[in-house]
Amino acid sequence: MSTFLEDVNEKIGGVPIQACYHCRKCTAGCPLAFAMEYNPNKVIKMIQMGMKDKVLNSSTIWLCASCETCVTRCPNNVDIARMMDVLRETAIEEKIEPKEKNIRKFHEAFLASIKSGGRINEPMMIVNYKLKSGDYFSDMAMGMNMFMKGKIKLFSPRTKDMKSVRQIFKSTSK
Ligand code: SF4
Ligand code: SF4
Repeated sequence: MSTFLEDVNEKIGGVPIQACYHCRKCTAGCPLAFAMEYNPNKVIKMIQMGMKDKVLNSSTIWLCASCETCVTRCPNNVDIARMMDVLRETAIEEKIEPKEKNIRKFHEAFLASIKSGGRINEPMMIVNYKLKSGDYFSDMAMGMNMFMKGKIKLFSPRTKDMKSVRQIFKSTSK
């Protein structure tokens, strides 16, 4: 039977996370490390130590925004953003409910938007998220502010290569 470390490495498919020598450059550059339960390099350490339950139950894997700052800073090319993706998908497969309220519903709304247009359609994603979460008013003032400043676009054109997008979703769905 394979270990948690072996499973994660296989799903990442690139540089194995044992390549990490804990220099903490990833954590120093991560814009969300301040809010995380465990820093990105600590998550690597925990995987190396086989602490599967703690890792999959942590809020860290759901707070990662996949910005890839850590990936560009890592001297050993460890793909932490991909690793966080793998951990989120593993948590979903194992039916582990995230600690962060509604974050899974946001994750699903985000993926639904990508699936339908190949890129984010902000109004569609917001409506989808609000319907799923039932949280209709909490960010209304911020949303209006962002819209007035042009940070939320009413229309987002679909990507031209929808065939590739469909293939990616088909190849990754179970
Ligand atoms: S930057 Fe790379 S080597 Fe350094 S702690 Fe992060 S993952 Fe490990
Ligand atoms: S991809 Fe995630 S872990 Fe890496 S810097 Fe961005 S938010 Fe932090």
